[in-house]
Amino acid sequence: MCYGVLRVVDNALLLLTIAVMEIIQTIHQMQVFADEVRASGKILSLVSTMGYLHEGHLSLVRRAREESDVVVVSIFVNPAQFGPGEDLGSYPRDFESDRMLLQKERVDVIFAPSVAQMYPEPSLTYVYVHLLTETLCGADRPGHLDGVSLVVAKLFNICKPHKAYFGAKDFQQQLVIRRMVRDLNFDVEIVTCPIFREEDGLAMSSRNTYLSPRERSCAQVLNQSLAEAERMVKEGERNVETILGKMREMIEAKNPDRIDYVSAVDPNTLEPIQEIKCPVLFALAAKFGKSRLIDNRLVEP
Ligand code: AMP
Repeated sequence: MCYGVLRVVDNALLLLTIAVMEIIQTIHQMQVFADEVRASGKILSLVSTMGYLHEGHLSLVRRAREESDVVVVSIFVNPAQFGPGEDLGSYPRDFESDRMLLQKERVDVIFAPSVAQMYPEPSLTYVYVHLLTETLCGADRPGHLDGVSLVVAKLFNICKPHKAYFGAKDFQQQLVIRRMVRDLNFDVEIVTCPIFREEDGLAMSSRNTYLSPRERSCAQVLNQSLAEAERMVKEGERNVETILGKMREMIEAKNPDRIDYVSAVDPNTLEPIQEIKCPVLFALAAKFGKSRLIDNRLVEP
């Protein structure tokens, strides 16, 4: 962070401490910056995003701001995590708005590399986190989570954070990253932050912007079905099929374009559970119009 700006007011020279956020676009510059921060003994945090920021992203940024000295937010729409026919080309982007939001949050650095900077040639190296990537979104979006682990591994080597913040909205993603960090001994602490929701309960997502007013209103059912699952568990229901059946029925009543999955899984292994005994993760993915939306809720019986 740079400080500065001299201003003369009523003949008095004031030094205003206005934080200047840096925008770094090259890997080399980012690594040099990170080395300097680490050498100075300061705690560096990373919030990795694909931009088009909303309050969900900002909740991670605020937590990072509270818990560290230097906050880096990466903005990179990562081609490696989009499958053929997915929305890579149309993924919403607004760098200027992101820049203003992050400036307000007193972020120190935006790391915004180009695709050519991150992938000067096709990567021959991938990071496969087995088992955890084979269920839920991994089953419907082959290669998606491998693309995520690849870019996050690269970002960890480039930004060198002590701490990295992820949202529980992408529950599977944070679990995969945690496992990758453990298996490959990355020297970084993973912090998972709660799902940030709209007033009506819809989980915030950059993809909500694709929703028509009718689809937006129908999409509320996703969180409502998770709340219903929790209510059923709390009232003693232990049969998973009965709960998942009720959730599907509620979602189908809102005519989604597709339901990818409605599942009850072990939150540590993501394996489907048959009967509810210990904490259970209810997770779902459904498409309304062009938006494939995901949501989840961890329920303790
Ligand atoms: P994305 O830009 O969608 O790749 O998201 C970047 C980070 O923000 C990921 O760690 C997401 O899990 C997190 N995130 C996105 N939406 C939310 C939300 N509604 N609540 C909490 N975290 C979120």
